[in-house]
Amino acid sequence: MSEYIDDTAALNAEITRLNRRLLRATTARLEAEAIAERGLRDLFQRQQEIALLQTIATAANQATSVEDAMCHALAAVCKFAFWPLGHLLLSDDGIDRPLHSTSTWHDESAGKYDGLRALTESIAFGTGIGLPGRVAESGAPAWINVGSDDADAYPRLPEAMRAGLSSLFAFPVMIGTDVVAVLEFFSMKLQTPDEALLRLMAQIGIQLGRVVERNRTKTKLMHDAHHDSLTQLGNRTLFLARLQHAQRRATRVPGYKFSVLFVDLDRFKAVNDGLGHQAGDQLIIATANRLSSALRQTDLITRGDADDGGADIVARIGGDEFIILLDNISSEQVPVRVAERLISVMAQPFMLDEQQVIVTASIGIAQSASGYDDVKNMVRDADIAMYYAKQQGRARWVMFDTIMQQKALRRLRLESELRLAQDRGQLWLAYQPVVTPGDGLIRGFEALLRWNHPVYGAVGPTEFIPVAEEIGLISAMGSWILQHACRQLRTWQHESGRSMTMSVNLSALQLSNEGLVALVEQTLNETGIIAGTLRLELTESAIMAAPERALSILLQLKQLGVKLSLDDFGTGYSSLSQLRRLPIDTLKIDRSFVSQMDLHDDKRQIAEVVMMLAHILGMEVVAEGAETAAEVELLREMGADFVQGYYYFKPMRADAADAAWREQDAMWI
Ligand code: C2E
Ligand code: MG
Ligand code: MG
Repeated sequence: MSEYIDDTAALNAEITRLNRRLLRATTARLEAEAIAERGLRDLFQRQQEIALLQTIATAANQATSVEDAMCHALAAVCKFAFWPLGHLLLSDDGIDRPLHSTSTWHDESAGKYDGLRALTESIAFGTGIGLPGRVAESGAPAWINVGSDDADAYPRLPEAMRAGLSSLFAFPVMIGTDVVAVLEFFSMKLQTPDEALLRLMAQIGIQLGRVVERNRTKTKLMHDAHHDSLTQLGNRTLFLARLQHAQRRATRVPGYKFSVLFVDLDRFKAVNDGLGHQAGDQLIIATANRLSSALRQTDLITRGDADDGGADIVARIGGDEFIILLDNISSEQVPVRVAERLISVMAQPFMLDEQQVIVTASIGIAQSASGYDDVKNMVRDADIAMYYAKQQGRARWVMFDTIMQQKALRRLRLESELRLAQDRGQLWLAYQPVVTPGDGLIRGFEALLRWNHPVYGAVGPTEFIPVAEEIGLISAMGSWILQHACRQLRTWQHESGRSMTMSVNLSALQLSNEGLVALVEQTLNETGIIAGTLRLELTESAIMAAPERALSILLQLKQLGVKLSLDDFGTGYSSLSQLRRLPIDTLKIDRSFVSQMDLHDDKRQIAEVVMMLAHILGMEVVAEGAETAAEVELLREMGADFVQGYYYFKPMRADAADAAWREQDAMWI
């Protein structure tokens, strides 16, 4: 029996022990399960957070604007945290600017929060004001619950409470240490964010900050691409875009008018060269300011009746070139009044480096009424008109008109056809005899280029040589002229047995061309003419364009033995000190002094002095353009060595020139 009792006691003890073990195991399992569940929950939470960050990152990358990215972020955060309302506030550009409330909201209610939204948008959240103001000030997230102690500091709490909201939460969007925006959210529950949520929002803030930064860089790039860095005015690209805009409007709105003013400073080069580039830059900046403020003043008179239309714009498109769009003008008189104002504003002295400088401006005007298809042509025409303004003596305006248009068209046509002219045999050389006054004997010729244009007829070299220079044809054309003239000279020298001379004109561009010396040398070798019978004619302005360089080339040409003539003497710079330095053999007195010299004392006196001077310097003198016996007689008396003019001969075809010297053969014997 006692054994039985013993057994029972032992059994009970065993059961108790087992129960305890079971309890321990259960507790341990429950604990383990709880731990596992917590882990899973954390994991889930982490996953949600990562998903949120990813959503925002994707939205940020795809967003077309900062607002767009923020809008996505507001929606994603609201969804993540179960918040019904989110709002964006942006700080104005620059540091320490107040926030402004945007109309960008995420609102899941149907109008429930309209009162709160209206109130919010009416508040200026200066530094420290309201929850957003505090966030902007501290650069850290913040929150507030309805009924909190310092509720007074939060003007919107009563309204939020009325709408059934309990908490406000806000965090900053940062670039470095700058707060560029604030996102705020409203919760229906009383809520104090935990560490994890704060960390998450901070991360979102940084992510969105990158979006703002990228956008700013883009905006800056866009700005730079459309503005001139010196004056901050718009550039050509921006101008053309605005002009195009005006053009489109003009096709829709009857009577809509606009005009383009092309402004170019007179004498800018002189200031730049004389006072230095820095002063030149100062002048450009000052000009930009004057033009802009003069335009603002004229704004009232320029506006048409139609209410909208772009504002006027000034753009800088080159060194000292500005273009202005006068948009939506009331009449065609407006650009004229504006141009006159601009000219008078520009005529006021400038102070540059403590020096008073006076520069004027020339302005060309083109009107939309001319019906342009391409706005670039409007700028081109304003440019052409400006060029006329310069030609007419500067400091004035000129309106582009149909005559200029015809001239411009002709020039365009000459430009495109000149390339083909040589191949088509339309270019030829005329020869004008150079004679000794008194006996009238032909001592040589000047080769003068001619173009027989199929439509325009004879086009003069003064018109098409500049075109050839501009389109890069002068070098090829110049070689042809030189070779052609020298071959003709060899033939005539050979047949006459006399050492006649041939004068060949060189353009300014040829003079700056390295290949010129080699070309002349090659032509001399090829034709075998005596170098001294070739006279190369240069104008003073061609030499003075780059005197040092020209001098070096002239010296090389002299080494070859050719003679050099200074053409059109008296019309250019006429720097006597320069003249002394130049290896010139012959001066050609310009036609303007010779023509009617018997009737004008001043002309005669100038011609006389020039001739004396030339002889003192050991040069020969050719008088150009003598048309009457009286002129020739005077020139002979003054001691002109040669005369070239219609009185004796006009420029003529080679066969006529040939006949002319043969006719004189008898006089040589
Ligand atoms: P330039 O070298 O001074 O040529 C003299 C110009 O005066 C020529 O005009 C000639 O026809 C004209 N002329 C000559 N005598 C008289 C006269 O008594 N009365 C009047 N009214 N005119 C007279 P052109 O042929 O029209 O040439 C004009 C300018 O074109 C030339 O002035 C020269 O600078 C340039 N040029 C002509 N041929 C060539 C050329 O082959 N190459 C280059 N680079 N320029 C040329
Ligand atoms: Mg000449
Ligand atoms: Mg001449």
